[in-house]
Amino acid sequence: MQSLTNRAKQVERKPMTLWEKMYLLSITKGMSITFGHIFKKKPTINYPEKERPFSPVFRGLHVLNRDEEGRERCTACGLCALACPAEAITMEAAERLPGEENLYKEEKYAARYEINMLRCIFCGFCEDACPKDAIYLSETFAPSNYSREKFIYGKNELLIPDPKTDPEAYAKAKGNK
Ligand code: SF4
Ligand code: SF4
Repeated sequence: MQSLTNRAKQVERKPMTLWEKMYLLSITKGMSITFGHIFKKKPTINYPEKERPFSPVFRGLHVLNRDEEGRERCTACGLCALACPAEAITMEAAERLPGEENLYKEEKYAARYEINMLRCIFCGFCEDACPKDAIYLSETFAPSNYSREKFIYGKNELLIPDPKTDPEAYAKAKGNK
């Protein structure tokens, strides 16, 4: 049959010699590659004991932010949900009652705020859309789980610790943001 490119080669199938049948040369070659790699720096790390440093632009798990006085910043305006291309954010707004000024910064707040982490594509649009600096994507990620429901994060999981009552946990959650 005529070849289209003229690059086809006729392969010769010679019977193997006794030396080739012993595979000694091939085994030696293979082992030399293995030993060569033993002394090289390993590209893998022992996660979770060791963690690889993230890029400064890494977008991880969401955090609902508080102000310096520990009040929730979110005013349940819904802009983050509107900007979300994956429709991963759900919320219910409520009005701040007299005496709750120390809890919520604005007159309206999110009584329920949920993000479905299985839908989220960590694009960061919610952070960009927020006019209140109330949500940001941190430098960590959602831990694995066995149930789909556990990936729906509510305020319990998302809200940053109160800087007044737990400044250490607040600083840790805040990271470089
Ligand atoms: S990071 Fe993107 S996909 Fe995830 S909740 Fe925010 S806007 Fe939606
Ligand atoms: S997180 Fe920001 S954008 Fe989303 S509802 Fe709250 S204030 Fe609005």
